[in-house]
Amino acid sequence: MLEVKRRGLRLARELRLRVEAVVLERRFMAARVRAEAMAARRSPQQRLTYERMSQWAREHPERRRAHRLVHSAIRSGKISRPIRCDGCGLDRRLEAHHGDYTKPLGVRWFCRSCHLRVHRCEEVLG
Ligand SMILES: [Zn+2]
Ligand SMILES: [Zn+2]
Repeated sequence: MLEVKRRGLRLARELRLRVEAVVLERRFMAARVRAEAMAARRSPQQRLTYERMSQWAREHPERRRAHRLVHSAIRSGKISRPIRCDGCGLDRRLEAHHGDYTKPLGVRWFCRSCHLRVHRCEEVLG
């Protein structure tokens, strides 16, 4: 009698584990389908940008880290994104420029065109 009950319990447990495995697998498949659908919805241009960005992130982990720190510092209010460009003084959308990636929060803020110019200058000056 006890033996039967034990076997019943074991079967019930196995069944539950199997059901959980199926549920997990379904959830996993659904997540994969969603990720694939999202990837397919990206335009070729977006896909290129996305691939380039992840390649960039792989090649420059210290820059990625610095950017992430800047964004979280902005979110937490530790630093604020100024309004005017450090280069031309115009009121534009600004990008953080790191002179030194080992000082992640030591950034200057430039508009796109000043930012590009700064990088060109740095390249020339080494
Ligand atoms: Zn500017
Ligand atoms: Zn920069």
